[in-house]
Amino acid sequence: MERSQEQKGQMREAQEEASAKPMEEEDVERMGQGDKLQHAVDEVAEKDDASQVEWVQELGAEVVKGTGRIVEPGRLEVGGETLEYDELMIATGSVPSLPPIEGLQEAAVWTSREATSASAVPESLLIVGAGGVGCELAQFYARSGSRVTLVQSGDFILPRIDREAGDLLAGIFEEERIDIRLNARAKRISRSESCLSLELEGDETLEATNLLVATGRRPNVEGLGLEQLDVTVGQHGIEVDDRLSAGAHAWAAGDVTGVALFTHVGKYQARVAAANVAGRERRADYRALPSAIFTDPQVAAVGDTSGEGTVTSKWDLTKVSRTATYQRPKRPGFVKLFADPERKVLVGAVLVGPDAGEWLGQLTLAIRAEIPVDVLRDTIQPFPTFSEAIFFAVRELDL
Ligand SMILES: Cc1cc2nc3c(=O)[nH]c(=O)nc-3n(C[C@H](O)[C@H](O)[C@H](O)COP(=O)(O)OP(=O)(O)OC[C@H]3O[C@@H](n4cnc5c(N)ncnc54)[C@H](O)[C@@H]3O)c2cc1C
Repeated sequence: MERSQEQKGQMREAQEEASAKPMEEEDVERMGQGDKLQHAVDEVAEKDDASQVEWVQELGAEVVKGTGRIVEPGRLEVGGETLEYDELMIATGSVPSLPPIEGLQEAAVWTSREATSASAVPESLLIVGAGGVGCELAQFYARSGSRVTLVQSGDFILPRIDREAGDLLAGIFEEERIDIRLNARAKRISRSESCLSLELEGDETLEATNLLVATGRRPNVEGLGLEQLDVTVGQHGIEVDDRLSAGAHAWAAGDVTGVALFTHVGKYQARVAAANVAGRERRADYRALPSAIFTDPQVAAVGDTSGEGTVTSKWDLTKVSRTATYQRPKRPGFVKLFADPERKVLVGAVLVGPDAGEWLGQLTLAIRAEIPVDVLRDTIQPFPTFSEAIFFAVRELDL
């Protein structure tokens, strides 16, 4: 039946009103998993870059959208337009790095980009790579209803962080029915109509409706015209000095430098580079570089956690009162500290626990400012907070 213009207008108004109104909890409850996923993304992510563009413009910068390419030192082309510069900052980020697995290119697998923009929850999901991204997405999809298998080539998950943290998280994942395959190397991927098959070395084959490759990222340096400049692209990215200079009139910051692929590192580097561009001498110091993995519980680390040449202590989080007041039954977690026995200062820390990324801050500062362990022992931590575990772990250090 044809609707009148008036009816159409009323429908449009009703739709606009509905989308402007925040959803009631029961409306969200009634949604299917796919819609819930979309709703959750809409709740936290901005739909476009409008607010950031506005912010940059308010600072007095011009925003030109398009793919830039250096044509010669001092000149950049974006679309048909030529832009001239005195100083160039390269901040082109990174792209997923796909391992040489046979059949991978043809199989149309997910990378983190697809996994973080999907509008439906796959029935089953194979994840290759159990670093931070692989672990966060494994738990997210498992809790959204997907049957998740996590495939890791080494003998523990979160290999860049800490074995004990990885083992603790693996135990929790297993309780959540995430199937973890350790020492498993992906050999071949093939796709049939209904599923993807992943053949492992040793001839076991895993199957799922979707497959996510989360095996790391590489610097985005291709097609930028970098060969026009006197910059060096190494294995990890554009090589920079501690002032973030990449060469004459060229600077680089963020993932493209390969120093540590975190937003906060890119922001820090940008501040250091900006100071130097403006003529104020400043050098980057990465000794207290923090990271947080947003699993439940969170895993957070800072500094040197290799354990080489350090004195180590560990305090079980279930022994502090906050764990009992936070959640019942109590869930596992810990604080682990690494101290330099000569200088008697902390050099690294690993935390596993609720919002660990938040209370990592004081350890980051302790490492960065080289606060003596004695001062940390004499520091009052509020009761009942997770920070009390830091005091106990400091007390345990055999220094
Ligand atoms: C799934 C996932 C989860 C993550 N979670 C966290 C987290 O919790 N905390 C954290 O700190 N980090 C996290 N990271 C890492 C974080 O996203 C990156 O470290 C950060 O985005 C790097 O910032 P950047 O500015 O260097 O690069 P990007 O954010 O990638 O920005 C680079 C920009 O340059 C543009 N560009 C590239 N080439 C050109 C060109 N030729 N011309 C014009 N523009 C160009 C790109 O389009 C892009 O917009 C996560 C990464 C992934 C993949």
